[in-house]
Amino acid sequence: MRYHPSNGYIIRNNNIINRAVFEKSRYSIDDQIHVAEHELGHALGLAHNKFNSKSIMNPADMINY
Ligand SMILES: [Zn+2]
Repeated sequence: MRYHPSNGYIIRNNNIINRAVFEKSRYSIDDQIHVAEHELGHALGLAHNKFNSKSIMNPADMINY
């Protein structure tokens, strides 16, 4: 992630999703979409949410749909 040096705004972020993990872990299409949404949240600067919430930003193994 790169930040603008004077204002601290996010100016660049690259996220790569390893599709092999989806296949290995047998993620459903819905699970894959949720992972992409979660990673997009990180790209926008969002951190993980608290455990046991309904947020897409829950840590990976604690997502409750
Ligand atoms: Zn995360």
